[in-house]
Amino acid sequence: MAGAVSLVIALDVGGTNIRGELVDPAGTVHAASHEPTAGSDGDATLDAIERVCRALLVEAGDRPVEAVGLAVPGVVDSRTGVVLLAGNLGWRDTAVADILGHRLGIPVLLHHDVNCAGLAERELGAGRGVDDMLAVFIGTGIAASLTVGGVAVGGGTNQAGELGHVVIRENGIECPCGQRGCLERYCSASSIGIAYAAATGRDAATSLEVVQALGSDPLADAVWDEAITALALGILGAITLLGTERIVLGGGLAAAGDKLVGPLRAKLEATVRVATVPEIVVAELGQRAGVIGAALATWKRLSDD
Ligand SMILES: [Zn+2]
Repeated sequence: MAGAVSLVIALDVGGTNIRGELVDPAGTVHAASHEPTAGSDGDATLDAIERVCRALLVEAGDRPVEAVGLAVPGVVDSRTGVVLLAGNLGWRDTAVADILGHRLGIPVLLHHDVNCAGLAERELGAGRGVDDMLAVFIGTGIAASLTVGGVAVGGGTNQAGELGHVVIRENGIECPCGQRGCLERYCSASSIGIAYAAATGRDAATSLEVVQALGSDPLADAVWDEAITALALGILGAITLLGTERIVLGGGLAAAGDKLVGPLRAKLEATVRVATVPEIVVAELGQRAGVIGAALATWKRLSDD
């Protein structure tokens, strides 16, 4: 067959790296390129994304590139292609899809990064084989991707899944979102580090140090227990509402593996009386989940149009 395979450019714009791949409809990666994220200068971020795209367009050669699919963290309107807020990237009410589409001469489709990662885990990773899944990504913050009855749920506002901002404690720790007592103030990787630093009287600490000290430092055990208790409360609300069959845990904190899964399962088993405790597993696709999901979501949108 004479070089007729169509391709898309899938990009995951992360906190430290812009990861781009040239992908065919079967998911085969034909080339990859990356750039460091440009910080909070929105124009520099657009320039860096454009460079990754142009490098991949050169790799595509004569093969047609149908679209660029961009997975972005923050508040994203995937229908209009506008990023309402991505503070770490320097975008606010920025028409990213139009700007890049104009520069590159190719349609640009915008996706939410957590929805992309959840889609990838559901189709190709740890979520395979179930129709009711909650993929929970725990890193600097916490966000979830919801699948109900085999369908990804975006909600009427397209902002479903903000598990990190579910309030689990009245009058709790203040959150930058403006609420108090949000889950992510207790169980994100960064919050666990802050709690351990406070408990030990140090200037700073990381969640990795807490995980490594489990079983040997009672302060680490206490910080971890409080974090898992908070996470179980947030998840309890979600699974009771949704009838979730499987929870897939991803993001940096999921590297704790059984030290996270075991206590979370125990907390839920001790608490849940109405819902059924779902299977709890660790995500399989790691850091590539976002870019894999961006390709999947882009091919889906192209076939829907
Ligand atoms: Zn919040």
